[in-house]
Amino acid sequence: CSFAHLQLGEKLMTAISRHGYSTPTPIQCQAAPAALAGRDVIGIAETGSGKTAAYLIPIIVHCLDQRELETGEGPIAIVLCPTRELALQIDSEFRAFAKNSGLGSVVLAGGLNKTDQFKLLRKGAEVCIANPGRFIDIVKMKGFTLQRVTMVVLDEADRMLAMGFEKQVRSIVTNVRPDRQTLLFSATMPTKIERLARDLLKSPVRISI
Ligand code: AMP
Repeated sequence: CSFAHLQLGEKLMTAISRHGYSTPTPIQCQAAPAALAGRDVIGIAETGSGKTAAYLIPIIVHCLDQRELETGEGPIAIVLCPTRELALQIDSEFRAFAKNSGLGSVVLAGGLNKTDQFKLLRKGAEVCIANPGRFIDIVKMKGFTLQRVTMVVLDEADRMLAMGFEKQVRSIVTNVRPDRQTLLFSATMPTKIERLARDLLKSPVRISI
């Protein structure tokens, strides 16, 4: 498998190679094509496997397509993850790949300035990378609408549940339109995560690395 096989646009291909990625990792080879085809995905993969790019590349392609199709406001894709550090890491990888695409992102995490977050949301960030608690805070403050969200990624789902975020995660995802695409990544698959996946994903492709 190669990045060329994924038939990404020229700008995205350039950004990937400038970021220093020459060959996809196994999770990228398996999860990215399924996600690019619009399928829901369960990815059982550890940190270090390259799972971030496995969903960020499909997110960028999806946002570029949706931006053409649908006007309206609010983010097109959301990534939920357990900690601020992880959210900032994901955002920096997104920014590297999204260079020259015109797509923007916002990180919603505790400890970051809410005014800056509102500014980025008003500017029209297409991708929102968030911790569940802060995400719900900002939605309640009418920071943005979920009407345009058509892609949701749950990253490190097992850690989010271990931190007590199950109720928040379920509430966020079920408030997104039913025609969304949903991806779930987790290092482990205990019963609680299986149940979450069964409730929130539709006929997912299951990938285990
Ligand atoms: P992740 O599992 O997404 O946290 O990625 C782990 C590390 O691998 C990060 O430092 C990435 O920048 C790096 N990485 C991910 N995919 C690739 C790739 N295809 N080629 C080289 N490095 C990669």
